[in-house]
Amino acid sequence: MTTEFELPARYAALAEEAAELARRVAPFAGEAGDSTALDPRLVAELAASGLCAVAVPAPWGGREDEVDPVAVCVVREALMPASGHLDALFALQGIGSYAVALAGTDEQRSAWLPRVAAAEALAALALTEPNAGSDLRAIETRIEEHGDELVLTGEKSFISNAGVAAFYGVLARDGDTYSLVLVPGDLPGIRVRRGGDLISAHVLGDLAFDGVRLPASARIGGPGQGFELVLATLTVFRASVAAAAVGIAQAALDEAVAHANTRIQFGRPLIRQGQVAALLADSLMEIEMARLLTYRAAARAARRDPRALVEASMAKVAATETAARVTDRAVQVMGRFGLVRGSKVERLYRESRALRIYEGASEVLRGTIARSLETKGGG
Ligand SMILES: Cc1cc2nc3c(=O)[nH]c(=O)nc-3n(C[C@H](O)[C@H](O)[C@H](O)COP(=O)(O)OP(=O)(O)OC[C@H]3O[C@@H](n4cnc5c(N)ncnc54)[C@H](O)[C@@H]3O)c2cc1C
Repeated sequence: MTTEFELPARYAALAEEAAELARRVAPFAGEAGDSTALDPRLVAELAASGLCAVAVPAPWGGREDEVDPVAVCVVREALMPASGHLDALFALQGIGSYAVALAGTDEQRSAWLPRVAAAEALAALALTEPNAGSDLRAIETRIEEHGDELVLTGEKSFISNAGVAAFYGVLARDGDTYSLVLVPGDLPGIRVRRGGDLISAHVLGDLAFDGVRLPASARIGGPGQGFELVLATLTVFRASVAAAAVGIAQAALDEAVAHANTRIQFGRPLIRQGQVAALLADSLMEIEMARLLTYRAAARAARRDPRALVEASMAKVAATETAARVTDRAVQVMGRFGLVRGSKVERLYRESRALRIYEGASEVLRGTIARSLETKGGG
C-alpha cells in the first residue's frame, strides 16, 4: 500500500478556481494594491468567482456543511501572491462571519451569511483598540444593558474593512465577561476614520461607537462567549494566514529562480554561484516545511482537534517568518532589480511584513506554543 502525502484531489480544482481569479485581476492588481481605498473591481471579480462561498457553511449559501479550513488555505495560498488586497477581501468574509456561523441566532445567520457568501456584504472583526493589541483582555469597549437594548461604547483601531463593511463583529466588555456583538455598519453613532498608509496598502480604519443602540439579540452566542468565539475564529484563520505566507514565499522564490537561471555573472548563471544556490535551496526547503505544517494545522482545525490552536500558531510563526526570509533572499538574489518599486518581488517583500504582526505577533504566538510544553505546575 502506498500513502499519498498530498492534499486530496478535490483541492486541486479549488486551487485552479482561485488561480483563475488571480489571473483575472492581474491587469489591475498592482494599482488596487497601492490604494488604501476598496477597489470595486476586485469586489466584483471576487463575487463573480463564487469563492466567498468557501468561507460560509452550506445552509447559508456556502460550499461545505461547515467551513473547511483546508479549502480556505488553498484559496489564500493562490490569491495572496496575486494581490494582498484581494486576499484580505476573501479572508475577511470568513474572519468577520465565522462566529455568526458558529453561534449566531437563526435571524443573524439568515440575514448576513448568504450575503457574505455572495460577497454582497463585506464582513469585519473588530478586536484591536488604541490601548489593546496583543493583550485583548485589556479592551475598554463595553456594552451595557438598558432595558431591552444593548448600548455599545468605545473605540477600535486598525480594523480591516472599517468603513466598507456591512457589519462588524465587535469584542466588548459585558459586565465581568466579554461578548461579541453583531453591529450593522450603518447604525447611528458609528464614526469611521480612515487608517494610516502602511508599507503595503490595506483597507483599514478606526471605529468609534458613541452609545450605539443594539437589540439584546445582537450578542453572537451567549453573554461571556466572546473569547471562545474569537479563539475558534483564530484557529481557522491563523492557519490561513500561514497559507497566504506560503503563497507569498513561493511567488518570491519563483521570481528569484527565474532570474538566477538567466542572469549571467562571472560567465555562469547566478544559480550556479554557490552562495546564490544555497539561498535558493534554503528557501525551497523552508517553504516546503511551512506548507506541510500549514495544511496539517488546517486539517486539525477541520477535525476540531484540541491541538488545533497551537498547531495554527506554529504554522503561522513558521510560515510568516519563512516568507520574511524568502522574500528578503529573493530581493538579494535579484540584486538591484529586486529593489525597483512596483516590481513583483518588491511588492511581495513589503506585503510579507504585516503577516508577522496581525492575528498574533510571532513573539506572542511563541508564548502560546511554549505554554503547550509546560508541565502541570511548571515543575
Ligand atoms: C494590516 C493590518 C490589519 C489589521 N486588521 C485588524 C482587524 O481587522 N481587526 C482587528 O481587531 N485588528 C486588526 N489589526 C491589528 C492587529 O491585530 C494588531 O496589530 C496585533 O494584534 C498586534 O497588536 P499591536 O499592533 O497593538 O502590538 P502590541 O500588542 O503593542 O505589540 C507590539 C510588539 O510587542 C511584542 N509583544 C507584545 N506582547 C508580547 C508578549 N506577550 N510576549 C512577547 N512579545 C510581545 C511583539 O513583538 C509585538 O509585535 C490589523 C493590523 C494590521 C497591521
